Amino acid sequence: QPDLPFAKDALAPVISADTLDFHYGKHHKTYVETANKLVAGTDLAEASLEDIITKTAGDASRAGIFNNAAQVWNHSFYWQSLKPNGGGPPSGDIAARITAVWGDYGKFAEDLKNAGLTQFGSGWAWLVIEAGRLKITKTSNADTPLAHGVKPLLTIDVREHAYYLDYQNRRADYLSAVIGKLLNWDFANA
Ligand code: MN
Repeated sequence: QPDLPFAKDALAPVISADTLDFHYGKHHKTYVETANKLVAGTDLAEASLEDIITKTAGDASRAGIFNNAAQVWNHSFYWQSLKPNGGGPPSGDIAARITAVWGDYGKFAEDLKNAGLTQFGSGWAWLVIEAGRLKITKTSNADTPLAHGVKPLLTIDVREHAYYLDYQNRRADYLSAVIGKLLNWDFANA
């Protein structure tokens, strides 16, 4: 399991250290342990995480491996999508790309929030780049743009464990706070 790219209390009050204790320290950790157990002794034991995901995507007989491996990757990507004092309008190359697609940052932020709000049940809201153009998408459960040959740039976890300790049922408030205060535009630009 990769280290968190920030201190456990660095995202508070948007995401508390308590949430990260459970989300990174228990949920993400368990996906890593389970994925490692499931690939041990198989043809995927020495494969990269990305290869494990693309080779098991859509294979019902290996759904357990896919689900755990993809959740490992998605969570590591989610931590990198966040940073203390991030969020708000971006700078760098991505600013012009957002204006080209959404007209202004406000409309982009609204669409990203709406993708997270309308993801029924657990899943992810994503900013991806497809054929050179930015796009907002959402996936269910462990599903990931990687499995569909699409390059993700940022993600937000909308499963209840991502926000329930801090926001209870208020997913909209969690999304607004993450988009406004935590998104890591340096990572997306990179
Ligand atoms: Mn999660």
